Amino acid sequence: MIGRFRFMDEQPVNLDGFAIEDMTLGLIAFGSHSDPSPSLVIDDNGVVIELDGRAAADFDIVDSFIAAHGIDIDSSAQAMALDDVEFARLLVDVNVTRAEIVRLAAGATPAKLAQVLALLRPAELVIAMTKMRARRTPSNQAHVTNRSDDPLLLAADAATAAAFGFREIETTVPVLGDAPSNAVAVSIGSAVGAAGVLVQCSVEEALELELGMAGLVSYAETVSLYGTEQIFVDGDDTPWSKAFLTSAYASRGIKMRVTSGGGSEALMGAAEHRSMFYLEARCVALARAMGAQGVQNGGIDSASVAGSVPGGVRSLMAENLMVMVRNLEACTGNDALMSESDVRRTSRTHPIFIAGSDFVCSGFGSIQRYDNMFGPSQWNSEDIDDYLIMQRDWTVDGGLRSASEEHVAALRRRAAEAVRDVYQWLGLADFGHSWVEQAIDAAGSKDVPAADLMVPLEASRIIRQSGVTMLDVVTALDACGYTLEASRLLDMLHARVKGDYLQTAAIFDEDMNVLSLVTDPNDYAGPGTGYEVIGERLVEINNVRQQRSVGQLRAEQAQGFSAALRVIGRAGIGSDPTEVTIGVSAATGRHIWTTLSGLSVVDVLDELLAGLEEEGCRGRIVRINDTVDLGMIGLSAARLSGSGIAIGLQAKGTALIHRRDLSPLANLELYSVAPTVTAELYRALGSNAARHAKGATPEPVRNPYSDMAIEARFHTKVVSLVAIERTCLDPTLGPEELELQR
Ligand code: CA
Repeated sequence: MIGRFRFMDEQPVNLDGFAIEDMTLGLIAFGSHSDPSPSLVIDDNGVVIELDGRAAADFDIVDSFIAAHGIDIDSSAQAMALDDVEFARLLVDVNVTRAEIVRLAAGATPAKLAQVLALLRPAELVIAMTKMRARRTPSNQAHVTNRSDDPLLLAADAATAAAFGFREIETTVPVLGDAPSNAVAVSIGSAVGAAGVLVQCSVEEALELELGMAGLVSYAETVSLYGTEQIFVDGDDTPWSKAFLTSAYASRGIKMRVTSGGGSEALMGAAEHRSMFYLEARCVALARAMGAQGVQNGGIDSASVAGSVPGGVRSLMAENLMVMVRNLEACTGNDALMSESDVRRTSRTHPIFIAGSDFVCSGFGSIQRYDNMFGPSQWNSEDIDDYLIMQRDWTVDGGLRSASEEHVAALRRRAAEAVRDVYQWLGLADFGHSWVEQAIDAAGSKDVPAADLMVPLEASRIIRQSGVTMLDVVTALDACGYTLEASRLLDMLHARVKGDYLQTAAIFDEDMNVLSLVTDPNDYAGPGTGYEVIGERLVEINNVRQQRSVGQLRAEQAQGFSAALRVIGRAGIGSDPTEVTIGVSAATGRHIWTTLSGLSVVDVLDELLAGLEEEGCRGRIVRINDTVDLGMIGLSAARLSGSGIAIGLQAKGTALIHRRDLSPLANLELYSVAPTVTAELYRALGSNAARHAKGATPEPVRNPYSDMAIEARFHTKVVSLVAIERTCLDPTLGPEELELQR
């Protein structure tokens, strides 16, 4: 294999798997030959007697459920008669309301909607999603888990996730027996971080419901739906049993959404030769029919299966849109990691990110990849800064916000200490000092060697045996002095009794107002309408912690003051043929003391002088006060030089060799990438300048190898440094001769 392809094979994207379309296995995103043509026949009694090419006598359990509960017969005649292209155009027409689309979609069969949404091109999916998501305000969901089920770390990480703006936090366990402790710890941590954060503990259905009944969690999304009967049968389930479970949660004030996702049927070997998107259309129709308020889809655990076939990533977004069109809350995947390639995973998320979704990620791994007990997410803790900056780049609300280190540190301490005190008060566990301190500081469970893995198991046993409820946790928090957190968790219990957050797409804002389809409906109708990032939210999104002003940079540079460049007087023209001038920029040694590579300008001058000396030349430092252009600095210095050769040096570290008879841009040698220039390279430049002075033709110096975005990394700093250089310009000064004082 040739080098070019060996090199390409080594790239992360080639760790992903790619499949050739295969309809018999269901490895096809859209339009399998086995997908039925849309059809709907309703008898005089309003009973569906044919659905998507199948007569009632041949219905499987999925058809039966949808036929019985999932078709709005008032709009079905109009919806089914609508031409597919006409229907698709309504989705992107800003003059057609969301409500009108919802009304028509309610009467459409799964095959009909599958055909219509498959027509939308990627940019059209973005527009349709912008219009069709239920809630006006976008949001995001985090995973908070760790390999040790460490309650202190869970609490600290839940507080951290809340600080970064996540409004739903989902935990799970590597050890089922630890679940009650995890639910309590994450709830306490989330309440430390912010008010009104919804918490889920994703475990086996019966235990999860038990935790919900005890008030230890506030939402659930683990009821899975499938597009073929066989998989329901394999799981010893039916749409009716899933509907019953869904209702069981909702009836106790627990926010409930179901989970599905393209590719799952193919993964389980029961796709009936159908396309992923058609089968997902059946799942979403089922979700609507059973009365769930929302769906978590977009592949989820099978995202990489969908991602392996042509058009698969596009189908994942289309299935999210399917949920919105059915007037359900959309928790839009970007959950399980679907690619090892940063480019591919960003490409998969980005259209949804800019369109906005009820929950952009249905599981952003806010903890380290190795601690994510769902498996690594599409986005993880190492990506939080990227995500925040993407929000800032596009002025898009992806549901997150910046949080300062100071703020997060304080929250982590309070969360860990609150869990320590509550567990002690309830008799669940005693935590040692070093465990607490390690959990506060930890970036992940590897940083908490003091954790005792038996503690969550024992605490969970006591919670279940003694019937600890969230009210007991509230009491304990209050008794231990955490009155704010106690009231926040009590508010969550109170909200369950009212039930307003069971409305479609509900979250709480931090004042405990419910934002939902009812109270905060999406009203996008083209430019100038709908959700906009403005006011405080705009400031929050723009103010990333990495940003710097010129003033801050100037202050940092002043701290670099280590030696002085003294002005001797006005620089004259030299006559010594062994003299090489070093022309420095106006701010050098005035306001700028550190180059972009981190060397001080004094050290750089030392190296240049030493390099000149090694070749038998003498250096003279002159400051050029009338230009910021390095070519002109070098040329002006060369015109003062006895040898006619000069080194030009900007305070930021860019350097060149010039000769007095050349034009400003035609230098002899150049270090253009200042951040990469080392002390040795400056010395080499000095030596080469001396060789030029002696009339030799040395091998030119070169910028070192680099494959990093050096230029991009330093551009903002360069803008500031150039601005500082400009403020130092004073043509009336003329060139000044400088002496280096050590
Ligand atoms: Ca989730």
